[in-house]
Amino acid sequence: MIGVVGGGIAGLTASIALAKRGFDVTLIHKGIKNTNSYLAQAGVAFPVLEGDSIKSHVLDTIKAGRYINDEEVVWNVISKGSEAYDFLLSLGVEFEYTELEGGHAFPRVFTIKNETGRHLTQILYMRARELGINFVEGTADALAIKEGKCYGVFVEGEFLKFDATILASGGYTALFRYTAGSPMNTGILIGDAVMKGALARDLEFVQFHPTGFIGKEGVKLISEAVRGHGAKLVNSKGERFVNELEPRDVVARAIYAEMQEGEVYLDATRIEDFKEKFPQIYAFLIREGVNPEKDLIPVSPIAHYSMGGLSVDLWYRSTIENLYAIGEAASNGFHGANRLASNSLLECIVSGLEVSRTVFRDRPRLEDVGDVEDTSEEPGDLESVREILWRYAGIVRNDVGIKRGLNELEGVDVDPRIKLLAGGILRAALERRESRGAHFREDYPFSRKEFERSIFFSAASLKRREGL
Ligand SMILES: Cc1cc2nc3c(=O)[nH]c(=O)nc-3n(C[C@H](O)[C@H](O)[C@H](O)COP(=O)(O)OP(=O)(O)OC[C@H]3O[C@@H](n4cnc5c(N)ncnc54)[C@H](O)[C@@H]3O)c2cc1C
Repeated sequence: MIGVVGGGIAGLTASIALAKRGFDVTLIHKGIKNTNSYLAQAGVAFPVLEGDSIKSHVLDTIKAGRYINDEEVVWNVISKGSEAYDFLLSLGVEFEYTELEGGHAFPRVFTIKNETGRHLTQILYMRARELGINFVEGTADALAIKEGKCYGVFVEGEFLKFDATILASGGYTALFRYTAGSPMNTGILIGDAVMKGALARDLEFVQFHPTGFIGKEGVKLISEAVRGHGAKLVNSKGERFVNELEPRDVVARAIYAEMQEGEVYLDATRIEDFKEKFPQIYAFLIREGVNPEKDLIPVSPIAHYSMGGLSVDLWYRSTIENLYAIGEAASNGFHGANRLASNSLLECIVSGLEVSRTVFRDRPRLEDVGDVEDTSEEPGDLESVREILWRYAGIVRNDVGIKRGLNELEGVDVDPRIKLLAGGILRAALERRESRGAHFREDYPFSRKEFERSIFFSAASLKRREGL
């Protein structure tokens, strides 16, 4: 029996691929609408059209990642783009057209009505149901890890034993005050695995999307495609202050700087047929009392994507036996210091398909586990953690602030696994005394040769550093 935690595009793809190989699969989830996959707007990058090439997509990915991507992983994932594309078509997915997004040298982003995630998630979910995947609705509170081996998960007090456990639980952007993603994506199981001996990687790299909308209904995203169609960013004096099509980190920092003086708006009034082009965005803005065809849209950067996660190898094995990680929960150097737009869904599908082959090869079989402890805890004061990370590990960071953040974190009464992960993000941000991709240090505004590498984080390294 194989257990998959998380019902986004990565978890659903892995479940389908495993079921096709004859495995019994249990998927633990909180409904497809609670996934970031469901919210994905623009699309999926595939280098499969005439005139495009794998090499061109690889080079774009490494450039966006500011040259610290694991090149073998990048080649591996992107060369499986045609297999991933074919997999979706075999399920009946019909893309509408392709778009050019920031950082891509070719219009290779396949989209469906700018609600690509919703369409893909629904189709994958239906296929998983047809294949007889056992869906368990609930929260996986803790991993059952003992002496370096994973035996399954605890779901609301019940121990579910698995031969292999696949973490597809998304990233940790919900640890930041503002995000348009699922509030469940706190990365708690990444923190749990690290507490039990696993390695995490690249935790300091969190991508901030420039144009979030913070409204009465919560935080939503105004996709890059709106700027791609000509929307302009203006400050409270009505002045443009940045080229809207610069990379996400550049635009997010420019907005952040303007916001120290006042509001920032997106002017989309010159886009023809906004309603038809962006039906989802139009609908929520209207509900919020903003008509994008006439009004300026107030925007703010928001935490959008975690490049870091549970450290896995090329084949999605973590450093804990029988524990695998895929999609945004995993980190193996594919994205480097900054994710190229629409590469995330590509990674979700490729890693979901790939991990099924790895599990098939590894053939994990568990002997008797004996007693294993359920280490789940009350969540505690998550809001303070979100405030601390937003303030001290946000768009602009510096040594004094990060140290203050670490100090304040010590005093917060929160689940220790969240505290460990949040501390890991701050510590990695402190250690990286340079600016690279999504990580910007105002006290070290340039990239430095000595940091052309990933930073790994483990509970053991933390103890060593603190002399415990
Ligand atoms: C608004 C928005 C727009 C985006 N647009 C794009 C885009 O156009 N193209 C692109 O490539 N990427 C996009 N992204 C990023 C992309 O959507 C995500 O990186 C990707 O969907 C992650 O998929 P996943 O399967 O790894 O995780 P998710 O889709 O996040 O699914 C993980 C699920 O696991 C659940 N979970 C977490 N912990 C537990 C637990 N302990 N027990 C049970 N369940 C748990 C979570 O609730 C979540 O539902 C966007 C992200 C957002 C937020």
